Amino acid sequence: MSLGFDDVVRILSEGKIPSPRLEARILFEYLGLNQFAPVDGEAEMRLRGLLDRRLAHAPLDKILGKRDFYKNTFAVSKDVLTPRPDTEILVEAAIELLPKKIPQKILDLGTGSGCILLSILGDCSKACGMAADKSEPALVIAKHNAELLGLDKRVTFMQADWFEPDFVEHIGSGFDMIVSNPPYIPTADILTLEPEVRQYDPLLALDGGKDGFEHYRRIAELTPHLLKQEGYILLEAGQGQAKQIADIFEHEGLHLIEIRPDLSGIERCVILKK
Ligand code: GLN
Repeated sequence: MSLGFDDVVRILSEGKIPSPRLEARILFEYLGLNQFAPVDGEAEMRLRGLLDRRLAHAPLDKILGKRDFYKNTFAVSKDVLTPRPDTEILVEAAIELLPKKIPQKILDLGTGSGCILLSILGDCSKACGMAADKSEPALVIAKHNAELLGLDKRVTFMQADWFEPDFVEHIGSGFDMIVSNPPYIPTADILTLEPEVRQYDPLLALDGGKDGFEHYRRIAELTPHLLKQEGYILLEAGQGQAKQIADIFEHEGLHLIEIRPDLSGIERCVILKK
């Protein structure tokens, strides 16, 4: 039995997948199929395989292995948090703040796919960066993305856990800017996330501890040692967390510059200065 484009739209729609027509179009394009001809044989098997995964709530980008973010396409896998459009606010703010003519050293804490740091480096040709992550498999993806974008010569990759006591010794200091989208979901809330996130984004990138602020508290402790005087730190915040994050960092002596909303009006990016 062959499958037509409209069958795929119907199957997705019956599976309660939002935007079924758009997703059907993306799947056809990904497999190089013609929307106006029935799909059969081996192509049909491949299409049905992808549909089964999508109906089991694997997110489309994890099925395709890629996701657009800011100005580029990034490789993604089960080992990295899928880049979210909300995070582009942080990238834009970082690019605005960086002087364009002087070389700048940027540290990305918990780089994941590398989308934040690599997007900034793509727009700031004098900057170089360090991408730190606890997860080895995430660093493999980040390196791959750096190579795809031709930015690998400007990035150092570092496997490191910021809860380890020798983190600063390991990473070094004198950074002009730190950027981070740390895990910030309170542990108990993880079960309430949609299956696309809960089952397919790594727990390591989501779990912010009991109250969601565990990683911010540790990063705040480390920041004065990592940053240059007058250096900036830009942090992504979960909904309703921005003011408390600002307090945590002000307590460590940093100065709040701005809390920037994302496109839905959620206070998403906290910017502080040493
Ligand atoms: N923005 C992600 C979500 O809401 C969470 C990412 C994070 O914890 N940093 O699913």
